[in-house]
Amino acid sequence: MANGAQTTAGAEITVRGLEKKFGQLKAVDDLSLDIPSGEFLALLGPSGSGKSTVLMMLAGFEVPTAGAITIDGRDCTRLTPQKRNIGMVFQHYSLFPHLSVIDNVAFPLKMRGASRADRRRRAAEALEVVRLEGYGDRMPSQLSGGQRQRVALARAIVYQPRLLLMDEPLSALDKNLREEMQLEIKRLHSELGVTVVFVTHDQGEALTMADRVAILRGGRIQQISAARELYERPANLFSAGFIGEMN
Ligand code: ADP
Ligand code: MG
Repeated sequence: MANGAQTTAGAEITVRGLEKKFGQLKAVDDLSLDIPSGEFLALLGPSGSGKSTVLMMLAGFEVPTAGAITIDGRDCTRLTPQKRNIGMVFQHYSLFPHLSVIDNVAFPLKMRGASRADRRRRAAEALEVVRLEGYGDRMPSQLSGGQRQRVALARAIVYQPRLLLMDEPLSALDKNLREEMQLEIKRLHSELGVTVVFVTHDQGEALTMADRVAILRGGRIQQISAARELYERPANLFSAGFIGEMN
């Protein structure tokens, strides 16, 4: 493992009675959830079920209309994103096109006031973790989709967050790349010891990647189970009318 990626304990998260209203619409409705340190949790549900809104509240980009979020016992409900130790990866890699790969990865460190030498060193280490050593001087336009998404991952882990939030990070990739990146993210999770909340509308992806799967519908958790249990007793999923709705 790269030096900069020593294992840290993942964050422990408690969500109580979380609600987000947009006008009359309750996008998230009285949602409670405990995520133990180091867990890989998938939020699975059809489009519009509130997955992204939950993630945005965990990250601090949206303020809940009710309820509370604590991270490691600290009330974070109204903290700005910068005050939470969180890395994020979105569906579209959102790299800065005019910055080199290394400067993209180092960007969060710059925001945090790290020295130039420190930024270069830590960004290079993060690139090593995602197996892109030697790509630092390229521009994003010179990379494949999978490589860009790995750069986005490197940027998310560069300051060693204890919580990694991912919103459909692989859904823009083709099948082969997606499978490769699934393994990559799993490996990162176990190497870094970080807590992961991973949003997807793909049940196969949720089942292969996660320790536990929370099925969202209408802003509520309909079911939360160990991925293994869902594998062994898929009838649960069918009886929830879930698979038919997903496709
Ligand atoms: P998902 O990620 O599961 O597709 P979202 O969390 O994006 O679901 O959205 C949940 C519901 O909230 C949807 O009905 C969506 O239209 C609505 N919504 C999400 N963000 C906003 C917003 N900023 N303003 C108004 N409605 C929103
Ligand atoms: Mg979404």
